[in-house]
Formats: sequence, structure tokens, C-alpha cells
Amino acid sequence: MHFSMMGTFLSARQRLDPLPVDIAGSGPSLGGGRRVSAGATVLVLLLSVCTGAGQKPDLTGVRIVTHPVAGHISMLEATGDVAGNIAVSVGPDGVLIVDDQWAELTDAISDALRALDRGPLRFIINTHHHDDHSDGNADLGQSGALIIAHEKARERLLAKDSAHWPVITFDSSLSVYFNGEEVRALSVPGGHTDNDIVVFFTESNVVHMGDLFNSGPSSFPIADLDSGGNAVKILRNIELLLPQIPEDARVIPGHGPLSDKQELYRLRDMLDETITWVRERKNSGASLDEILVEGLPTKFDGWGYGYMSAEGWITMIWNSLG
Ligand SMILES: [Zn+2]
Repeated sequence: MHFSMMGTFLSARQRLDPLPVDIAGSGPSLGGGRRVSAGATVLVLLLSVCTGAGQKPDLTGVRIVTHPVAGHISMLEATGDVAGNIAVSVGPDGVLIVDDQWAELTDAISDALRALDRGPLRFIINTHHHDDHSDGNADLGQSGALIIAHEKARERLLAKDSAHWPVITFDSSLSVYFNGEEVRALSVPGGHTDNDIVVFFTESNVVHMGDLFNSGPSSFPIADLDSGGNAVKILRNIELLLPQIPEDARVIPGHGPLSDKQELYRLRDMLDETITWVRERKNSGASLDEILVEGLPTKFDGWGYGYMSAEGWITMIWNSLG
């Protein structure tokens, strides 16, 4: 996604009713909503957080908040929604994390991990290559932790210095037996990026969805078309995953508050309906501009309040349909 495109993709709320970034940590955490500042900062923040590309968001004063999830699994969340959520497993085998946010947040993340457990960090799993999920690889990996990711995530991270590079890669699935359970990483590429994985903590009944799913204030998802993403494939992959997720599982989203399977059903329905809506119009000969002018049915108005506006989502579907 290019910087110039992001302005088009700003949600209605971000264009009309900008809110300050909660970087001081004095306001509500992410559970209170995505709060972004106006103007260029919004563009930078969105581009950086959504795709991990370009300039970093202002990370000054960002705090890491720890949320208990289930058993020995916790979720670390950056205030201001400037980075992806981290899943943490602590126990007799040590510490395993899924995603590691920005390098500037490594000290705060390390403090949060130590508060949970003083054991060694043994494994880091990246859900995909975007910086807001993997930039911490370099510093956190210096502890000796082994970095695991999809093989195409490693290919993309080769553009960075070698400290960021995953040392264990896989194509379809990989299991780590850790802290008394199978931690299963499953490849579901082609939706958000070409290297998306989700991670199941099989006994704890927790799944980390990466950026296939953003919870909380309703948001259309993002298909990073420049990194092999595709809006239609997001729907296919959510449909593929739903039967594999227990009904009572705790769901850690790529961004947003801790969630559940009901929100995934809601996401699936929205994806199915909006993609069908755009496809029917495109097949009947309507241009993208005509579809944008018509706009999505009003029942989807509530989805344009996160990273992605309705106009941006329509455009992504259009481009994904080929
Ligand atoms: Zn991402």
C-alpha cells in the first residue's frame, strides 16, 4: 500500500472527527477505542501500523498493558494501538511470544515479560513480516530466543539487518511443544499478506489471528496488495479457520481488544456480503467510481471506524477481484 493511497482509505471518523493519539498512556487503553490524531500523523500512523512500511508512528510514551487471557497465556497491548498485540506463554519451559512490535518498545515489552515470569525468552513467532509485528526481533532475539515465521516472511525480512531474520521457517504448519501444550502455527497466506500465519495454543484454547482480524471499534480489514494480500482471500481464510477454532476460544486479534469467535462470525458475514456486493456491480459493468459513489449499504456504516474506510475497503475488493 502506498502512502498516497492511505489518505483515500481514511475512515469517516478519522477525516471528520479526529481524536488525539493516546501515547501518554493517560487515557483509556486500546479497549477504549482506536484514537488517532489528525492530518499527516494519521497517514503516517495508518501506513506504518497497517503495513509496517514507511515512517514509524510516534512511540513516545507508549505503554505496554498486560491482559490475562487463559491459564498461562497473556496478551500484551501497546497503548494507542501503534503496534500489533503480543501473545505470551509463560511456564516451566520459559517464555514464548507471538509477535514483538517495534524495536523502540523492546524495553517496555521486556519489563512486561519479566513481570509475568523471570524465565528465559525461548521462542518468538511472527504472524507476518510487517514491522509493527516483527521489528522487535532484533533486540529480543539477542537473548538467544529462536525466531519462527513463514518462509515468505523471512524472504521479506531479509531486506532488514540479519538480527531480524527468522531462523526457523515453514510452509504449511509447525508445532512447538512448550509449557505443556502444542503451540501450532498454521499458514493461511494470501489475505493480509503472502506470509500470514495464525497460532493456536491448543490446550489453553487461545488463538492469535495476526492481522487477518482486527477487533474492537469496527474496522474493515486490510489486504496489503503490495505484499501478496487479497481481500477475497481474507474471506476464504477466515472460512477455512472457523471450523478449527473452538466456539469458546479466546481470540487475540492482530489489533484491538481481546475477542471471541462471535466477532469472527460477524467478520465473516461482513466480508461475504460486501465482497458479493462489489462483485455483482463489477460484473454488471459498473466502474469503481460508480460503485464508490453508490457506497456500501448503510448496514455497513459501523465498519468504517477503524483503520479502513468503506471507500478504501471497496477499492481493495475491486483490486482483489482482478
Ligand atoms: Zn500487518
